[in-house]
Amino acid sequence: MPMTTREPPVKKVEEERVEVLLNAPFELDEDDSIEFILGRIEAGDIINVKIDADPENIYILTISMLDGKRNLLSTRVKGGSTLSYKVPLSCEASIMLKCSSWSGEPEGKLTVNIARSSRRASRCPRCGMPLEPGAKYCGFCGAKVAE
Ligand SMILES: [Zn+2]
Repeated sequence: MPMTTREPPVKKVEEERVEVLLNAPFELDEDDSIEFILGRIEAGDIINVKIDADPENIYILTISMLDGKRNLLSTRVKGGSTLSYKVPLSCEASIMLKCSSWSGEPEGKLTVNIARSSRRASRCPRCGMPLEPGAKYCGFCGAKVAE
């Protein structure tokens, strides 16, 4: 009788490292806005945004490409809330907080961190393309890659 062996389902847990991108106090009255540069974000990264502020205030939170070509996310959030957002594409990004409805304290703190898989292939420091594991030179632009 033929025997079939079945592998038990393996749950692949990718190691993640968390980087803090922003820890910024702000003071926003109604219709005020403030923008911060996040730098490079990669497809698949999870951005966690926490707005430590009066829950009476409503904010519009926008994550957009730094060149202004495209908004990745624009959503309404209450002070005191936290949201997680999965990045759909790699780009340079900024984050903007606008107070759309103000009835509490104007002060708050915006905290942004990013959960990034540490197993993701590294990237060429010159052209930003992904590198083959162990590569000494970039396969796209030929730049020498530091070990
Ligand atoms: Zn390159």
